[in-house]
Amino acid sequence: MSQSIANWSRTHHCTPARLERPRSEDTIIALVKNAADNGDTIRVIGALHSWSDCAMSDGIVVSLDDMQQVLEVDRDGLRVRVQAGIRLARLNEELAAVGLALPIVGSVVEQSIAGVMSTGTHGSSLTHGNIPSAVVGMRLVTGKGDVLVLDEDHELLPAARVALGALGVITEVTLSVQPAFRLCETTETIPFDDAVRDMEAIARSAEYVKLWWLPHTDAVIVFRSERTTEPGRISPVVRWIDEHIVNQLLFATVLWLGRWFNGLIAPLNRLVARTYLKPRRVVGRSDKVMSLAMPPRHREMEYSVPMTKAGEALRQTRALIGSHNLRVNFITEVRFVRGDDAWLSPATARDSCQLGAYMAESEGIERYFGAFQGAMKALGGRPHWGKEFQANVAELSGQYPEFERFVALARRLDPKQIFRNRFVARLFESTEEEIH
Ligand SMILES: Cc1cc2nc3c(=O)[nH]c(=O)nc-3n(C[C@H](O)[C@H](O)[C@H](O)COP(=O)(O)OP(=O)(O)OC[C@H]3O[C@@H](n4cnc5c(N)ncnc54)[C@H](O)[C@@H]3O)c2cc1C
Repeated sequence: MSQSIANWSRTHHCTPARLERPRSEDTIIALVKNAADNGDTIRVIGALHSWSDCAMSDGIVVSLDDMQQVLEVDRDGLRVRVQAGIRLARLNEELAAVGLALPIVGSVVEQSIAGVMSTGTHGSSLTHGNIPSAVVGMRLVTGKGDVLVLDEDHELLPAARVALGALGVITEVTLSVQPAFRLCETTETIPFDDAVRDMEAIARSAEYVKLWWLPHTDAVIVFRSERTTEPGRISPVVRWIDEHIVNQLLFATVLWLGRWFNGLIAPLNRLVARTYLKPRRVVGRSDKVMSLAMPPRHREMEYSVPMTKAGEALRQTRALIGSHNLRVNFITEVRFVRGDDAWLSPATARDSCQLGAYMAESEGIERYFGAFQGAMKALGGRPHWGKEFQANVAELSGQYPEFERFVALARRLDPKQIFRNRFVARLFESTEEEIH
């Protein structure tokens, strides 16, 4: 009997009919053809680090954990070709060993490259796009068992960069990389109203910029990172202490206290802001500076709004926390993503601000996410596919110029709908009625 699987936050579980771990593209083609013949479905999983149920399925679940090789490195052309199951952490190490680096990573590096592509995972920079923006080629096994080779100029590459697993199984990915670089990260704490007023200028004030606001405080901390030739490294011991002592012990205890004694959340946040959100300066390898120690378990919702609405989005988030009398025990994160051309990228066709509402399980979380989602949608928000959201087709087609074209492409590449799971079916449903 197959075992159940769960996502990182343990908010979604499923019991696949079968779990497969192919070692080659040929095996994947055979699995797809069999599934098509037998009326089965296939869902590929990465590291299961999504808060949405995008990776959940009761059909055949395919893990590419045995397909994690770096296949080719072109140092002069700044390209690397990898198997799609490779985790970002391993990729970063292998790139560093040959003097290369990804242009950008997000807060953690436990995910697979195909997983981060499929949900539009991002770091924070208006100079660089999200992680899928660095994808310049891939191999995709379609629902007919054909292999689509999408090179840099292929018209379908922008469709397949962020594809929710709905177009097929990504088996290989070619990425544009950079010579290895170090970053110097500095922080500055500013009043909330200044952050709202100056958001666009702040976003453009360094190559990598992000903001954290701790609800119930007036403090917004601005993180800026620029390239440096200064020596420096982030000690693995410090990272271990941050993850195991600060996050999993101290921070988890603060969250636990807030869960049982809701009234303590606001004063606890103020205490955390005073003791933890201190100015700091860190120099180290690019991916180490951009990523963080693993946080304690919590839930996330995140919306992408046009850059011009960034300050207003943050202002409304504070207002709704007040008007709903919420006690929010986790930071609100503000990040920035350069616009791109991927059909389903939350940053498609516009420079964007990704505003994240985070909370550890606690009273009021559903009201918080409900109110936040309503406010972000009203500002033209697009959901992060890998985080919590509810959306209907009318909203999605209104927000994504190529949404219906994407659904039509999914029908063409996957005529027997073997890559459908409940998540994809929910998003596509009534669009198809309109397309027929
Ligand atoms: C602690 C934590 C921190 C995070 N930080 C960030 C962040 O900084 N920025 C950000 O944007 N997001 C962030 N996320 C969200 C996360 O990056 C995304 O949800 C990402 O998709 C997870 O990758 P994964 O490998 O775990 O994929 P999964 O969650 O396993 O799968 C995601 C999707 O990819 C599809 N998929 C996976 N492999 C393939 C394949 N080979 N072919 C076709 N489809 C495939 C799956 O079917 C599914 O639809 C974070 C998540 C966690 C838990």
